[in-house]
Amino acid sequence: SFSSAPTERAVEVDLEAIRHNLRHLLEVASPARVMAVVKADGYGHGAVAVAKAALEAGASWLGTAHISEALDLRRAGLEAPVLAWLHTPESDFAGGIEQGIDIGVSGWELDHVVAAARRLERPARVHLKIDTGLGRNGCPPELWEDLLDRALEHQEEGLLRVVGVFSHLAVADEPHRPETDEQLRRFRDAVAVAEDAGADLEVRHLANTPGTLSRPDCHFDMVRVGLGMYGLSPFSDQSAEDLGLRPAMTFATVVAGCKEVPAGQGVSYGLSYRTERPTTLGLIPTGYGDGVPRIATGGPVRIDGRTYPAVGRIAMDQLVVDFGTQGLIGTERSPLGHRAVLFGGAGDPPVEEWAAASGTINYEIVTRISGRVPRTYL
Ligand code: PLP
Repeated sequence: SFSSAPTERAVEVDLEAIRHNLRHLLEVASPARVMAVVKADGYGHGAVAVAKAALEAGASWLGTAHISEALDLRRAGLEAPVLAWLHTPESDFAGGIEQGIDIGVSGWELDHVVAAARRLERPARVHLKIDTGLGRNGCPPELWEDLLDRALEHQEEGLLRVVGVFSHLAVADEPHRPETDEQLRRFRDAVAVAEDAGADLEVRHLANTPGTLSRPDCHFDMVRVGLGMYGLSPFSDQSAEDLGLRPAMTFATVVAGCKEVPAGQGVSYGLSYRTERPTTLGLIPTGYGDGVPRIATGGPVRIDGRTYPAVGRIAMDQLVVDFGTQGLIGTERSPLGHRAVLFGGAGDPPVEEWAAASGTINYEIVTRISGRVPRTYL
């Protein structure tokens, strides 16, 4: 268990929570299958460990942004289907084809994939991506038939197989917004055009976590879930618990200092916080060098069953809490060496409080925890 304190800082990942969340999402999505999205080192949780847990729990696919991330999964011995969807002209398309990585193609990538497949004398598996409204990658609808025709010509030559059609939702985290209906309509059209042109599709996929949870009409053959698998809610008005999800990541550290100070003591760079009365300050050995946003003053730290806000500016390696805000004054009751949790699951502050203090979303807080913090697994 993680009840004991880490030695300095640790990201503690509860793989049973990952499996629980995956099984829950699988149930919600059924009969659609589930792709576990493990890009950006599994949203900071550790891509390989998360991928293994997700596959154990019933995921059928893995998803990454870059081919390099997909190749890391293969190097770790994972043989499940993997799709990578974000490329540059220098991306390792040949490596991806050799390792059986499915490649997302929005347009220009087609020629690169075909050239690599020709060299290797091995067909590539591609998923064609239509931009149904997000405005990032994905083929614009007016160029869809052209992309499809070219891809199917290369399929005739034996250089690739069009196995999937997919797109990505823009506003599914705000279920009342009408744009999702329009994206769905465009996606259905694109799938119909592909099937009419003779594509023999294995998978049609559109939904991310919010789409999976709020739009059954967006499930198609497979959903691509990241955030929900990590146990976090994409909705501002529903908690993870409301959704039956368990946060998998706990960010824990240890109280590194404790001292009594007089009223008027300034705290941290800029002296933006001054103590109102004599109090005790606690030093927490984590900061923006670990990925805690510098602007997250006020973010909660849970120590011995009480929650203290971070006061003053967050520095590179450390932040300060004011124990007096909870009536704890006097170093003889010092929590020096005690476990201090910034965010986690039940009983710990939710990561959303750090996101709110930072003007960002839960996705970013977990993903940005830096490589300086060791990941440990339960
Ligand atoms: N699909 C694609 C193409 C993505 O880029 C992402 C992540 O942003 C996801 C699915 C997963 O999204 P979520 O974390 O909301 O489930």
